[in-house]
Amino acid sequence: AAKEKGKDNYQFYTKQLSLDVQTRLNLEQELLHALERKELHVEYQPQYLLETGEVKGVEALLRWDSGILGKVSPDDFIAIAEETGVIVKIGYFVFEEACKAYKKWRDEGFLLERVAINISAVQFREEYFLEKLKDILVRTGVEASAIEIEITERFIMEYSTTNLTILEDLRTLGCQISIDDFGTGYSSMSYMKQLPLDTVKIDKSFIVELPENTHDAEVSKAIIALSKSLGYKVVAEGIENAAQEQFLRENKCDFAQGFYFAEPMDEKQFLDFLKEKGIKNPSHS
Ligand code: C2E
Ligand code: MG
Ligand code: MG
Ligand code: MG
Repeated sequence: AAKEKGKDNYQFYTKQLSLDVQTRLNLEQELLHALERKELHVEYQPQYLLETGEVKGVEALLRWDSGILGKVSPDDFIAIAEETGVIVKIGYFVFEEACKAYKKWRDEGFLLERVAINISAVQFREEYFLEKLKDILVRTGVEASAIEIEITERFIMEYSTTNLTILEDLRTLGCQISIDDFGTGYSSMSYMKQLPLDTVKIDKSFIVELPENTHDAEVSKAIIALSKSLGYKVVAEGIENAAQEQFLRENKCDFAQGFYFAEPMDEKQFLDFLKEKGIKNPSHS
């Protein structure tokens, strides 16, 4: 019986394994056609100024609803998009969609300080990256200062003079630069000073057990203090309850984003959300 069980386990294992490889191949194959099949769209999650509770910004988050595979999480497909290089095209799509959405909201009288857009290191390698972003900004009528580029710590690991030059060029253009998922990678504190940054985003893994987890509480406090001492804004992501919000507000984190406030919404839902909140900017009617 033990032998049989072992055999079953083995079969189960190989089945799982082949399924994973197959799933991966399917993802890869389907992802190549996702854009042309219009299976991709962008959602927006508000960022709140903790001091006042006002919505000041928004993060653009890519969504894929595959006709064949159903909804696929970015955590499952972004890496594949990067490996296959299709992230370059998809990245321009996200950038343009986010600009158009920002412009639409602004035309309705809602002037947000920024729309944050996740950019992969792979996109930076594309020859005309900066030119194309500029072109999209001009075409959509959005000023660069409204854009915050989110890069990850992995990006910094791949830190190269080219990357740094592009970051500096983006900043010269007027974009803001944000470092995402801060604390999860291996980026040394010294990079933080060398990079042209405006914002640090505390990774949600440090938020989830706040305030009880004393280690996470200390790490969060340290990231806030360090960032502020370097002159950067701090955004916490993944706030799911009032206790987390209170902890972050008390410890002077600037902005917060999370399901506790609002889940990501499509462009139209986000406009309704802004209307409902009634936070029209008085200087822009
Ligand atoms: P991220 O940039 O760190 O985005 C934050 C993630 O946390 C989002 O997951 C968001 O939906 C999720 N989130 C927000 N509030 C909460 C909360 O209260 N609790 C929990 N548990 N999660 C929350 P999402 O949309 O699944 O995206 C996952 C990651 O995929 C993003 O992490 C980002 O690294 C990447 N990604 C998403 N869109 C793009 C894109 O357009 N381009 C690139 N290069 N990467 C993207
Ligand atoms: Mg992000
Ligand atoms: Mg993040
Ligand atoms: Mg993340």
